[in-house]
Amino acid sequence: MKTFETIQTELRAGTTTCERLTGEYLGTIEAGSGLNAFLSVFSEKAVAQARLVDRKLADGTAGKLAGMVVSIKDVICVKDERVTCGSKILEQFISPYNATVVDRLVAEDAIIVGKNNMDEFAMGSSTENSAYGRVKLVQDETRVPGGSSGGSAVAVRAGMATVSLGSDTGGSIRQPASFTGVVGLKPTYGRVSRFGLVAFASSFDSIGSLALTTRDCAQVLNVIAGHDERDSTSAKIPVPDFTSALDKNVIGLRVGIPKEYFGEGLDPDVRTAVEKSIDTLKKNGATVEEVSLPHTEYTIATYYILATAEASSNLARYDGARYGYRAKKARDLAGMYTASRSEGFGSEVKRRIMLGTYVLSAGYYDAYYRKGQKVRRLIQQDFLKAFDSVDCLITPTAPTTAFKAGEKVDDPLTMYLSDIYTTSANLAGIPGISVPFGKDHQGLPIGVQILGRQFDEATILKVADFLESAS
Ligand code: GLN
Repeated sequence: MKTFETIQTELRAGTTTCERLTGEYLGTIEAGSGLNAFLSVFSEKAVAQARLVDRKLADGTAGKLAGMVVSIKDVICVKDERVTCGSKILEQFISPYNATVVDRLVAEDAIIVGKNNMDEFAMGSSTENSAYGRVKLVQDETRVPGGSSGGSAVAVRAGMATVSLGSDTGGSIRQPASFTGVVGLKPTYGRVSRFGLVAFASSFDSIGSLALTTRDCAQVLNVIAGHDERDSTSAKIPVPDFTSALDKNVIGLRVGIPKEYFGEGLDPDVRTAVEKSIDTLKKNGATVEEVSLPHTEYTIATYYILATAEASSNLARYDGARYGYRAKKARDLAGMYTASRSEGFGSEVKRRIMLGTYVLSAGYYDAYYRKGQKVRRLIQQDFLKAFDSVDCLITPTAPTTAFKAGEKVDDPLTMYLSDIYTTSANLAGIPGISVPFGKDHQGLPIGVQILGRQFDEATILKVADFLESAS
């Protein structure tokens, strides 16, 4: 397994080439196909791109990401390739264009190697909701890698890609990063263009990266961040060089510990690891204080009301006529809609559409949707207030380490609790990162989450990089 930094050193020293590297990654993908982390692999295109980048390296015109081999969660569009979103309803759908993030990566000479398996339409916390079978945790195949970007996390952990792009609506980058032992960054809402990301819940969705190191996530953010006229919610805010924040210095940093994130349901091993990470920061010159986010107990309910409302509206477009799957036997238009959706969507997606349609229906809109919007604002204000006195917050990423496959699939509420510490960042639009810090008594990775102010990815990257080197 190689970090991008190592790859860059080797390319400079002439001890490898992009073509050779790409061949190695493709070999690892092939050998690890049983993990089910990929839904498509672009072998020929990737090798052709690698040869091109080798030529550019030779004549000194290569971009910043030359030699980085990237896989993409199958909810982000790559031109002329399938984008299934882990769903049967889009099984045959070919994307006519590249997402902005893909254009930006390729413009800097990254090599796109394939698309990763995921929970259907990014709904899930275990990657068991894919229409194409579950993804297995590399460390123990009887366990799940988290979700919904489980394919991306396993691809990075198993050495099938240097970096993977994922999407995070309620934790789908950070939680699988935590389960698999990689770094996962969800940038501020609006920092990265969502053009070409298939929508789940538009006011929550963010594209981010999973990688072996914080530095690699920072390098990718440097390239994918910034305004895009094709996404009106992308912010017109300057993009700093995020790698320059990685100075291994936390002296004077003010760290907040939200007391509500250490309550019932938190695994003792996870608690111990997070406390150890806090001690490490303290010993190295950071000041630590307890803070309160009083509306924390409402985050899961608020998230599942608002995200399902947005999902029910976004997923209305899959009607059997405009995209993808169409049922064969229907007799009339309404029957065709019903049959296409009934046969095309899996059960978790149907559950969310029904829940979302319910909370948006005329009689319940005020009681659920409007109330949810109000609570969302209160949750945002909790964070604003906390960030008056501290520069970042440290929490567990998830309440447990990787659980067994099958353990939670029949109990959606328990599954939803996997997101108890991550959904708040999406409700508030703030950036969050999960960094591996220690292992539990079974040897499974534990993730520490660092949350920061809007558009201050630099601080959370700095803290993650510090903890990474101290763990
Ligand atoms: N696990 C959460 C859900 O099922 C988050 C998903 C995500 O971030 N895409 O909605």
